[in-house]
Amino acid sequence: MQNVQPGTLWVVATPIGQLTDISQRAIEVLGKVAVIAAEDTRHSRPLLSHYGIATPAVALHEHNEREAVDQLVRRLEQGDEVALISDAGTPLISDPGFRLVRAARAAGLKVAPVPGACAAIAALSAAGLPSDRFVFEGFLPPKSAARRTRLAELAGDARTLIFYESPHRVAECLADMVQVFGPEREAALARELTKLFETVIDAPLAELAERVAGDRDQQRGEIVLLVAGVADRAQAQLAEGQRVFALLRDDLPPAKAARLAAAITGAPRKALYQ
Ligand code: SAM
Repeated sequence: MQNVQPGTLWVVATPIGQLTDISQRAIEVLGKVAVIAAEDTRHSRPLLSHYGIATPAVALHEHNEREAVDQLVRRLEQGDEVALISDAGTPLISDPGFRLVRAARAAGLKVAPVPGACAAIAALSAAGLPSDRFVFEGFLPPKSAARRTRLAELAGDARTLIFYESPHRVAECLADMVQVFGPEREAALARELTKLFETVIDAPLAELAERVAGDRDQQRGEIVLLVAGVADRAQAQLAEGQRVFALLRDDLPPAKAARLAAAITGAPRKALYQ
């Protein structure tokens, strides 16, 4: 066993809806490896069958990650090639795989990406919001209070913000965004990308929130929300001032909280108080 050449861990992106959105190289790699580590082997079976891939698959999800990772790293060390896939899109992007990639790299093994679909990037490419600088925030907390706190932390960010959101929460999430970011902030909803009911709507936040709240169809399927960053320094300062004011107001009278928040952040005291 001493001179065995270790295998490579291939991190393979799969489609986010449209079965043909997969690279030729991904098909070749999935066909040649010894084993595919899949988030849900049953879910991936139709894709693999469609491309005539008969490679055995093992499950790698958050509940068995620890044991599965140990076994997969051992197989890599023994010379097996392994491919990692998730249910859709790029593994590790709001999907399992991080522990496996970390463990493989820590063991000195080669880890190679086979790039392809990612809902966040697909949404950004079609939303018409600034794309030179952006930040991927994944899923927001499901409860409103925690979600607003998280949003408030992002309110002063000048980069385009990208979120994944469940269809059951999209209306209330947009309502929170209107509260925290203000009604005028440019935003977009990208739904069911590459699928039959693909929709990309861009509008100021209040308009987008109203449209989604009034149309159940926009609350179905898979959704990416995008929000433009703050446009200028004054707006960023005000957003930061509002965040600090909201924190202080829990323990102080409004006038005092506004004075302190203004002193800390440089935001205008009057605007905060109002
Ligand atoms: N790894 C995936 C990727 O690369 O995009 C993301 C997996 S995450 C568990 C699933 C979330 O991604 C969905 O809830 C939705 O927010 C987003 N998503 C996935 N496919 C999508 C699609 N076709 N259209 C819009 N959003 C999608």
